[in-house]
Amino acid sequence: MKDYIKSLEIILLSTIVTSRRISDWLTGRNSTKVRQWQSTPRYNARRIAFHRSETENAKVILGSATPSIETLYAAERGVIELHTLSERYGEGKLPLIEIVKLKNSSEEITPRLKLFTNRAVKEGNQAVYLLNRRGFAPFVLCGDCGTAAECPDCSIGMNYHRGKGMLCHYCGYSADVPVKCSKCGSESILKLGSGTQKIEETITKEFPDYRVFRLDQDSARKKDAVFDLLEQMHKREIDILLGTQMISKGFDFHGVTVAGIIMADIGLNMPDFRATEKIFSLLMQLSGRSGRGGSEGRVIIQTLNEEHIIFDYLKRQDYSGFYREELKIRKMINYPPFTRLARIVIRGKDEDTVCESADTLAEILKKTGSEKFPKIMILGPSPAPLTKIGGNYRYHIILKSSKLKDLTALIKTALDSFKSKAVYVEIDIDPVDML
Ligand SMILES: [Zn+2]
Ligand SMILES: [Zn+2]
Repeated sequence: MKDYIKSLEIILLSTIVTSRRISDWLTGRNSTKVRQWQSTPRYNARRIAFHRSETENAKVILGSATPSIETLYAAERGVIELHTLSERYGEGKLPLIEIVKLKNSSEEITPRLKLFTNRAVKEGNQAVYLLNRRGFAPFVLCGDCGTAAECPDCSIGMNYHRGKGMLCHYCGYSADVPVKCSKCGSESILKLGSGTQKIEETITKEFPDYRVFRLDQDSARKKDAVFDLLEQMHKREIDILLGTQMISKGFDFHGVTVAGIIMADIGLNMPDFRATEKIFSLLMQLSGRSGRGGSEGRVIIQTLNEEHIIFDYLKRQDYSGFYREELKIRKMINYPPFTRLARIVIRGKDEDTVCESADTLAEILKKTGSEKFPKIMILGPSPAPLTKIGGNYRYHIILKSSKLKDLTALIKTALDSFKSKAVYVEIDIDPVDML
């Protein structure tokens, strides 16, 4: 084991030290486009660790309660070795998981969650609540015509933050809440939905005597916020810890016997082939915060759509069942781990230029592809799900192939004959998201 850890350290260290070489490895040397690619080096740390382990003749250990579909598939095929911990370490038992239907999207704390929270706190234990949405209200819109306040630089709605007006979570643009609707002039401006700040208020109303701590990107900015949290949780000076996904991993609080997921639906319908896997993994991780100290833990998962297939697997904590189901879907739609992916994002300030450039690049890719790499599948171009971020319009092209070498060779050849100064081209091999 000691040797393994040593090797792991060497890999991590050399990965950091030679990070310039990483981009060489990813993109190939001596390419005229290397500089362009290097300016936003995108790499998959897991793949780099494996690559380094080959060159350094070292071992890599990946550890997770929810390994990725790709990793499990590699284990299944014998590419890597799987070691399973089927029982909780120490005295901890696996918690009981309950799926509770929310009456509507404005219900925040169901009677079941309230009941178990009260029981836990009365026994001197603690609860953690997860809501993967920071701010106060995620939607600001006109009560008469429904027009939403959007960030002028991004194609997404503005979030209302208590005492701070509206904030764009993608580019950081901020503005006051409008007095009138920009479209119909109505003065009825609504702040809808719930973010962590709003749930914090609700908790304070529902449980006026309990001590609440909120951990999200906003509260974590305060000096020592995380340190204070750790100390107060261990001293049991907090009854309910509320947070975004920041609270789902790594913490080992022995007093927590209840984990509540305020709305499990957030993120499930993202236009990303890994959306279900990401949410499943997040909910499993959060469930794992409950009952670590020996007392029986309980997890209340609140959702608007309790029929969703992931809840069946979650209830049974059946990660391998979920894995098999998800693998079937990936195979059907030919996505990783059944293929390698490359995503090319073309972005720029002028939408027509971006649209035209994306089309030109796709044409070159398709022409070169059909001549030299007929097995590569090329999808798009199409507007990226996040069509505009920080004033840049974004279109993307997706390439699929079982051979990474073919993918990079095709992209390099195509980029050599693609000349455009008006747009920026991002290449992402094995992208972690498709937004
Ligand atoms: Zn209006
Ligand atoms: Zn923005």
